[in-house]
Amino acid sequence: MAIKTKEQYQQSIRDRKPMNVWFLGEKVEDVTTFPPLAASFSAVSKVYELASDPDWQDLVTVESHINGERVSIYNAPLRTPEEANKKTRAARAFAEVIGCCTHRCTGSEGFAGLGPCTYDMDQDLGTDYFQRFTKFMDYVQRNDLSCTVTVTDVKGLRTLPPHKQPDKDMYVHIDEYREDGIVISGYKANQTGILFAHEVVIVPTTAMKEEDKDFAVACAVPADAPGITYVLGRTPQDKRFFEVGGDIEGIDLGKNYADHQAFVYFDHVFVPKERVFLCGEWQYVGRLLSYFTAVHRLTAGGCKAGGCTALAGAASLITEMIGVNRAGHIKEKLTEMVITAEQVYGLSLAAGTEGFTHPSGFWVPNPLMAHTCKWTCTWIPFNAVRYAREIIAGTGETAPSELDMRSPVIGDICQREFNPGNPKYDAFDRLRATRFIEHMTRGSNWTAMALHGGGNPEAARMMAMRFTDWKHLQDMVKVATGMEKDPKICKSVLDSIGKRSGRIDTLQDLPCVCAKAEKEAAATK
Ligand SMILES: Cc1cc2nc3c(=O)[nH]c(=O)nc-3n(C[C@H](O)[C@H](O)[C@H](O)COP(=O)(O)OP(=O)(O)OC[C@H]3O[C@@H](n4cnc5c(N)ncnc54)[C@H](O)[C@@H]3O)c2cc1C
Repeated sequence: MAIKTKEQYQQSIRDRKPMNVWFLGEKVEDVTTFPPLAASFSAVSKVYELASDPDWQDLVTVESHINGERVSIYNAPLRTPEEANKKTRAARAFAEVIGCCTHRCTGSEGFAGLGPCTYDMDQDLGTDYFQRFTKFMDYVQRNDLSCTVTVTDVKGLRTLPPHKQPDKDMYVHIDEYREDGIVISGYKANQTGILFAHEVVIVPTTAMKEEDKDFAVACAVPADAPGITYVLGRTPQDKRFFEVGGDIEGIDLGKNYADHQAFVYFDHVFVPKERVFLCGEWQYVGRLLSYFTAVHRLTAGGCKAGGCTALAGAASLITEMIGVNRAGHIKEKLTEMVITAEQVYGLSLAAGTEGFTHPSGFWVPNPLMAHTCKWTCTWIPFNAVRYAREIIAGTGETAPSELDMRSPVIGDICQREFNPGNPKYDAFDRLRATRFIEHMTRGSNWTAMALHGGGNPEAARMMAMRFTDWKHLQDMVKVATGMEKDPKICKSVLDSIGKRSGRIDTLQDLPCVCAKAEKEAAATK
């Protein structure tokens, strides 16, 4: 079985070459011991630990179609609807344990886009990208590597296409085409989990035109490759990580696990040919993104469901501590938090079930439902956030620090002030549950992840619009109201109802969706 234990994973991260990582104006010498990154390293370590736990293995591993080994679900692009649903269940389960991003799922989603796209390119263009991709996957699977996909370019002035940006680095691009590979430069922003990844998988962020050829690049680079600079992003609580130690347990951090985001600057990084999966084929970028987002936007429903139930658990505990758990409005709010979780979970499972098998053998979830899932995730978790904050109330929102609660001088008065009243719990229990909610709702990037991670609401809405067969919707009404008189057309419309219901989700339609998008882009040039 190709699964690393937690200890093997941690050692493999320590064994990476020194990396150029910065935070608060200083170079970080060792990311594995740097306090603001400790919770993030713990989170991804926990994901490895659970993957090697026999009780979790069925949920988080699959049999590789490449080498027959049992491999991480995060290194196996989907091949069946069952695997899609397994990924959703795993995302939810991990979120319920660590309450944050697994740091690993985006890599698998990058692969889910690259597999079908490289296959299409080889069929159309006679290239050998699919073979390179499969070889790379085999390497990743056998070594159980943690991979992250870097999609988001910094983009500069949003109205300018990549080739018109005054600073070319606003989008990652190819500087040099060589016999043995390419040299790339540019920025990628908001990268989750990248400092604890082995491999960085780069894909473009937007569909391209011919003039953007040099920006049409997909490839993989080791996270410790020369020429890469990382700058860790801030979170409101980052300085709290330095407080932990002695008697201070880190209650103010909210929990033991967190994720991190960093921006990345690639400065003339060499990528060998065998790690390049798209190199100037601008016509295929839209298609790559269509395949990728169909999987990426499905996962959001799994992890946001886990986050919402974790929030509901913490809020429910607090209501018990302060004695309001039987109040009608509290029960309603807690129940709505749970309904929110089930709503996004259900959308994710449904998108995974209704899809199609690409000729490469990969399973592509239903794109319209996946984008609907992501769009929903940008809204409804905020209800759960609002309810949780309402429940911890002002006393929770303005709670004293653990440092004050443990002070030999004022600790006693702080503990009495924060004592919940229920003799089963003390002030520290209440602080733990309170900080847990604080961490998820305003201490970490959990809400930012719901809103922007995997694309903002507009991006999901735009794709949902493109994956809707508007003509079919109009035809249905024409038939229903008698506007359409031709019996043959009426029959064909009626026959298609219940099969696609206006969703563009067949393989044949995908390229035409991309072609339409390219045409629209050209028209607005
Ligand atoms: C916590 C977190 C984690 C993330 N993790 C990752 C990750 O692991 N990997 C990764 O690749 N990315 C990641 N992202 C990035 C995320 O996918 C992006 O934030 C998202 O795609 C939007 O890009 P942007 O932030 O540059 O905003 P933009 O898309 O540029 O949007 C900025 C604003 O302008 C509007 N806008 C943009 N362009 C136009 C236009 N042409 N016309 C009109 N309006 C426009 C948008 O609607 C929005 O309001 C993460 C983000 C967050 C917050």
